[in-house]
Amino acid sequence: FVIPEFKTFTDIIDTIYETCKDNDSGLPAQYIPQLARVDPSHWGVSICTIDGQRYDLGETSTPFCMQSVVKPLNYALTLNDLSSEVVHQYVGQEPSDKPHNPMINAGAIVTAGLLKKGLVIADRFDYAMDQFKRLSGQEHIAFNNSVYLSERATADRNFALGYYMRENKCFPPEADLVETLEFYFQLCSVEITAESGAVIAATLANGGICPTTGDRVLDSDAVRNTLSLMHSCGMYDYSGQFAFKVGLPAKSGVAGGVMLVVPNLMGIFTWSPPLDQWGNSSRGVQFCEELVGNFNFHNYDNL
Ligand code: GLU
Repeated sequence: FVIPEFKTFTDIIDTIYETCKDNDSGLPAQYIPQLARVDPSHWGVSICTIDGQRYDLGETSTPFCMQSVVKPLNYALTLNDLSSEVVHQYVGQEPSDKPHNPMINAGAIVTAGLLKKGLVIADRFDYAMDQFKRLSGQEHIAFNNSVYLSERATADRNFALGYYMRENKCFPPEADLVETLEFYFQLCSVEITAESGAVIAATLANGGICPTTGDRVLDSDAVRNTLSLMHSCGMYDYSGQFAFKVGLPAKSGVAGGVMLVVPNLMGIFTWSPPLDQWGNSSRGVQFCEELVGNFNFHNYDNL
């Protein structure tokens, strides 16, 4: 086993979980009613190691939307399909580059325009869902239509970004703007649980092979590129501090999920809706910080 003393490890995880449970700072995302009315006390942590050991604490089987957690997955699938050369003709890697990196909205919208762009939109959605299923070892993946509808109805900023980028020829020529934006909102509205999210994170930690099924979903170059951008840009405007303090690739979303990857070791998924001033899950960030306070998981530990 990659974690030989699994019980010793999970005893410490229990303590961190309880510490973070007391953190009631922050508020669930307020920009759409479907997220604003969620119970702020939800708190779940799920772990899956690259050799398939599992540990779940709290609410790990309640579905919630990936929101921005889908950005690295969308990027990884697009890379896997099209190669880095093609994808990076359209999107950059800098935290605020033209035409933006795939971990922020502008770049994620362009990336949504690239994913299986040769297919009709229904088949593109099916393709994405199938791949999410494979990444999660066939665990819980669903679609939340009311979040999708309210997201689309209140998306002025994303539409503005889309029109601005179209004017600047950021999309592949065949992309339909409204269809691309709708596809992006649909991807954000895909539901996971902390458990299925932990398997996805473990697939990334394992270089693209799902540890629970042995299925190679992504090639290792796609995973390497994705983890690099998660490391530098995955936690909104807290990304620099997170990279400094935690030193691990992660991605958060407005529904309160945090996907944390410990390369070659495990995937961790935390879910708690209240968000801090940067838009990251308050308990999720605290969990990550306490985790590296207890274990040598930081990229620059063990030097
Ligand atoms: N659907 C959200 C948006 O594009 C994603 C927000 C997020 O999780 O950062 O505005």
